[in-house]
Amino acid sequence: MIDFSFTEEQDLFREAIREWLAKNLPMERVRENDTNHTLGKDLIRGLGDLGLLCMTLPEDHGGAGADWVTATIAAEELGYADISVSLPVFFLVQASWGFVVDKYCQDVVRDICLRKAARGEGFIGIGVTEPGGGSDVSGFQTTFSKGEGNWTLNGEKTYISGTHECQEMGGGYFVTGFNDRSQGHRGMTAVYLPLDFEGVEVSKRFDNYGRMAISTGGFKMTDVKVPEEYQLGETGRGFYLTMEGFDAARVLVSASCIGAAERAMEIGMDYIKERHVFGQPIAKYQGVQFDLADMAAHHEAIKMLVYRTAWMMDQKYQHGTFTPLEVSKYLSMCKYLAPHHALDTFRRVMLWMGAYGYTKECPLEMGIRGVMSYCIGAEGAANIQKVVIARETLGREWTRR
Ligand SMILES: Cc1cc2nc3c(=O)[nH]c(=O)nc-3n(C[C@H](O)[C@H](O)[C@H](O)COP(=O)(O)OP(=O)(O)OC[C@H]3O[C@@H](n4cnc5c(N)ncnc54)[C@H](O)[C@@H]3O)c2cc1C
Repeated sequence: MIDFSFTEEQDLFREAIREWLAKNLPMERVRENDTNHTLGKDLIRGLGDLGLLCMTLPEDHGGAGADWVTATIAAEELGYADISVSLPVFFLVQASWGFVVDKYCQDVVRDICLRKAARGEGFIGIGVTEPGGGSDVSGFQTTFSKGEGNWTLNGEKTYISGTHECQEMGGGYFVTGFNDRSQGHRGMTAVYLPLDFEGVEVSKRFDNYGRMAISTGGFKMTDVKVPEEYQLGETGRGFYLTMEGFDAARVLVSASCIGAAERAMEIGMDYIKERHVFGQPIAKYQGVQFDLADMAAHHEAIKMLVYRTAWMMDQKYQHGTFTPLEVSKYLSMCKYLAPHHALDTFRRVMLWMGAYGYTKECPLEMGIRGVMSYCIGAEGAANIQKVVIARETLGREWTRR
């Protein structure tokens, strides 16, 4: 027997967030944040007060002990409210990378970072990408050298979300590097790196194409001494921890894109019901209705996939009924399909709106710019998702050597 319904608690949770966001983050505020390049401290604190920040952490670690289906509902609602996906990025980075840091850290890291991040008084992010490599870890240059009670980090991380917010609020990043390059990806280790440590230099803020309210920057590490209590997991497991974090982030990214696409469809439907051409509303024309039907059908299919995958994550973490690789395949399907579906939805709805859709009086362009970041690469490039899907479908023996 299959039950596709949410629990009563989850339905109430969704209603409460939608109501809070409708009041505190109307579309005018989304535009304002996009223009002023800020998320707004009130909104971050508000998410903390609602228990949404780091919500996947256990309650006694500062989180809400939320399961992945519930976190996925939050991500969808945030995407619905903020189609630029800036606030969703802030939320999902905390919920996914906070989760992985919490799972593998010692208490000291919870005390200096995670509990504060859960209250909206600190930031926890992911610092993996380097100038020499994004998808391909063999291009990474960051090194970890073991000393007496600490690691010394040297290298550079770039295209990193939230560097400006992290500087303002305090906090740090999940960071990986090679402790033994000869071991390939098995020679990578992860640490929690506070951004204000000596030897860390925050470089520029990129002038991005979209999701303007949250920063994207980078940082250089020169002989940075990180206490060994800040190490995450075992030495040599950094790559695997990174993959676990990406997996957690991918379901939330996908849900944000689904939320944004749903809002775009609603905005579009309101418009075509009002706007008349050749004597009747645009909505009456079958050419436009077929476009809507196509979008709506894809939307429902991908949304089901996203929630089914969130459910699989809960089964994996709570009961061990799916292996991590089984779930990764579905997470990659979500991360491949949802951002492209959202981009396509924004593009098509914008066409319904004629010239108005091409102006900043219409909110849709913020959505196109925002979800494009997830088509390009944030939390993993599209082709890498296809590599995972093909590998887990065809069998590992067909993997490129
Ligand atoms: C807005 C934004 C925010 C980001 N925030 C963060 C962050 O917070 N932390 C962080 O660590 N990183 C972050 N990133 C970086 C992101 O993780 C990388 O962009 C991503 O991993 C891809 O790496 P790359 O950009 O170097 O592209 P590359 O790896 O150079 O890939 C370029 C192109 O080649 C394709 N490609 C790569 N490998 C293959 C293959 N085997 N077969 C076929 N095609 C392939 C890719 O699909 C892509 O189209 C962010 C990126 C963006 C755009």
